[in-house]
Amino acid sequence: MSDTIVPPAPVAVIGLGNMGVPMGACLIKAGYAVTGFDLLEPARQKFVAAGGRVANDIAAAVATAEVVIMLLPNGKIVREAVSAMRAHLRRSTILMDMSSSDPIGTRSLGEELIAAGTAFIDAPVSGGVRRAVTGTLAIMVGGDGGTIDRVQPLLDAMGSSIFRTGALGSGHAMKALNNYVSAAGLAAAAEAVLIGQRFGLDPAAMVDILNVSTSRNDATENKFKQFILSKRYAAGFTLALMAKDLRTALETAEATANCAYAVRSGFDTTSQRVSRRGIGPPRASRRAFKYWISGLSMGGLQNSSDSACSSESGKLNRFLKPRMSALSNFFCECVVILP
Ligand code: NAD
Repeated sequence: MSDTIVPPAPVAVIGLGNMGVPMGACLIKAGYAVTGFDLLEPARQKFVAAGGRVANDIAAAVATAEVVIMLLPNGKIVREAVSAMRAHLRRSTILMDMSSSDPIGTRSLGEELIAAGTAFIDAPVSGGVRRAVTGTLAIMVGGDGGTIDRVQPLLDAMGSSIFRTGALGSGHAMKALNNYVSAAGLAAAAEAVLIGQRFGLDPAAMVDILNVSTSRNDATENKFKQFILSKRYAAGFTLALMAKDLRTALETAEATANCAYAVRSGFDTTSQRVSRRGIGPPRASRRAFKYWISGLSMGGLQNSSDSACSSESGKLNRFLKPRMSALSNFFCECVVILP
C-alpha cells in the first residue's frame, strides 16, 4: 500500500522497560526515527544507552510520530497514557498497544478512539526479552486490516511470526490465553521437579529428561536451568505481570461463561504471592517470584541459608496442596469432556 509506514518514518515508543528498550532498538536498526518516553529517568537512560533518542514528556514523544507503540504494564495504564497524549497526536497517527492489556478494556478504548477518528490496534507479543532483542517475537494483531497493513513493516522489524487474529481486542485475548497456558506449564513443571527432588531425583537431570519428552515446554527449555536452578531469577518477566495476565485470562474466561478451573487456581495462588510481597517495583516482584518458584522447584527450603526464604516453606507447602487438587480437578474435567 502507498501509505505503508516505512523507514525513516517517526515512531514513538511509550514504556521503556524490559520489552520497550529492545523492541525500540529493533525499530532503530530497521531505520525508523524512534523517540522513546518513560516516566522513569533510569528507563530513559537505558534507551539512550541502546542508541535511542528520548523525550522528557509524552507530548514531545508523540508530537511527530506516525505510529505510537505502547509497551506499558497493563490496559489501565495504557488508557491513562492515551489520555495524556491524545491532544498532541497528529490526525493520521496510528496507536498500537503492544502491551498485554485486557481485551475487554481494549475494545472499549478502541471504540472511543476510532469514533473520534484515531486509528487503534492491539498487537501484544510473546517470546520474552530474548526474542525482543533478536526481533523474532510472535505478534498477535487485532483490529482493522487496512491499519495493520500500514504498520506491517514495523511488525516485521520486531517479530518473525505475525498473526492477524481478528477484531480489535482479539490479539489481547489470544495473548492472555497464551500466558495462561505458559504459566500452567511453568507451575506444572515446578511441581513435578519439586516432587521428583523429594523422591530423590536430580532436578537438572529431570529438566534434561523433560526437555526430550512429551512435557517439554517453554519453562523447561528456557527458564528452569537458566533462571531457576541457577538461582538467577532474572528472566525479565516479573511475577506482577504474570499475575496480571492470569487475571486477564480469568476475566476473559468469565466473559465467555467458561469455568477455567486451572486458571482460577493459578491466579489465586500467584496473586496471593504478589500481594504478600508487593507488586510494585520490579525488584520486589523478582523477589516474590524467587520465593514462589524456589519453593516449588527446589524443595530444599529447609536447608536454605536464606532465613526469609526458609520461613516461607510451611506456607508454600500449604498452598501447593490445594493447587495440585485444583489442577487434578481440571484434568478430570478434561477426561470427562473427551469422548
Ligand atoms: P516493565 O515493567 O519492564 O516496563 C514497563 C515500563 O513502563 C516501565 O519502565 C515503567 O516505568 C513504564 N511506565 C509505566 N507507566 C507509564 C506511563 N504512564 N508512561 C510512560 N511509561 C510508563 O514491563 P515489560 O516487561 O517491558 O512489559 C511491558 C508489557 O509487555 C507488559 O504489558 C507485559 O505484560 C508485556 N510483556 C512482557 C514480556 C516480558 O518478558 N517482559 C513478554 C511479553 C509481553
